[in-house]
Amino acid sequence: MVKFNDLKAVNALHGEEITEAVARVAASGWYLHGSETAAFEAEYTDYIGTKHCVGVGNGLDALTLILRAMLELGRIEPGDEVLVPANTFIATVLAITENGLKPVLVEPDPLTLQIDGGRLEAAVTPRTRVLMLVHLYGRCAMTPQIEAFLREHPEISLVEDNAQAHGCKYQQARRTGSLGLAAGHSFYPGKNLGALGDGGAVTTDDAELADMVRSLGNYGSSRKYVFDHVGRNSRLDEIQAAVLRVKLRHIDADNARRAEIAYLYYEGLGGLCGIPDDCAGGNVYHLFPVLSERRDALQEQLRKRGVETMIHYPIPPHLQACYRSEPWARVSLPITERLALQELSLPMHAAMSEEEACFVVDCLGGLRS
Ligand SMILES: *Cc1c(COP(=O)(O)O)cnc(C)c1O
Repeated sequence: MVKFNDLKAVNALHGEEITEAVARVAASGWYLHGSETAAFEAEYTDYIGTKHCVGVGNGLDALTLILRAMLELGRIEPGDEVLVPANTFIATVLAITENGLKPVLVEPDPLTLQIDGGRLEAAVTPRTRVLMLVHLYGRCAMTPQIEAFLREHPEISLVEDNAQAHGCKYQQARRTGSLGLAAGHSFYPGKNLGALGDGGAVTTDDAELADMVRSLGNYGSSRKYVFDHVGRNSRLDEIQAAVLRVKLRHIDADNARRAEIAYLYYEGLGGLCGIPDDCAGGNVYHLFPVLSERRDALQEQLRKRGVETMIHYPIPPHLQACYRSEPWARVSLPITERLALQELSLPMHAAMSEEEACFVVDCLGGLRS
């Protein structure tokens, strides 16, 4: 049996430290807005390489509050357009629509599966104000072409969805999450930096934006019982922050293990992978997608041999029932739609063994011949 992700084993890698952290907070009598959250925010700021970090309740809140803060600060207006990859998790798009902004879905490059920088210019209108870059599957979506596009469009702010890419680097130097105006991070348990429940954060160099996100996540208040904005409640709690401090100390080692598994997959699978990568760059392999025209048969074959796989994602946002009546969703996106039929994610986590990876390769090789 090879599990797709094994949270029990992943957290057992740092079990004693995690247990100590939880016990410390439990005994402290202080559970929200405390020293653990402040310490994690400072440590995560250092790690990502931004000036500010604000802990929030989850990844969707992080993205939603960034755009909400931009609206409150008058930097964008309702109805403005946000360029976003068409092949992303629904939360990226929800953050846009929840704020009364318009998603403009951009097809991915079929080779990298990341947003196609060559299609951005044609998607720009006088209302385009934000590019939401999703580092999908733990791979860096930024490219020199996208950098040039942003330079030519100073009216477009870069916001990153870094929910799948903690530790990922652009050109082996700057970390994703520090490349634009602000970034949203998720600490959902299955992510590369996962808590024992929900958690999220916003990173940014912009002090005004950071303050606004903090206020909006605190009922719209920056002074107790004074409310300047119509806010909400979205906070990272002390137990999650304490656990995340432990896991942040080990994230580079955990990501290195993922890269070793990815390398074994690349070596063993060769052309079947479809997505070129030398495993020597800055990617962090949150997921390991392969593409196949016989995806469903492949998944069944693996299941029969005890290998769990998942599909990311079977229905793209523009085809979801929730957006049925939205004009922006009535578009034809053949690359995204084909991807939804062909993508299969192989087992990938920081506690995976080489034997398990080789077994998966063996199962796939058998099907190919
Ligand atoms: C997980 C995820 C989110 C949302 O994070 P939550 O903490 O689950 O709200 C957003 N975007 C992407 C790409 C994700 O994978």
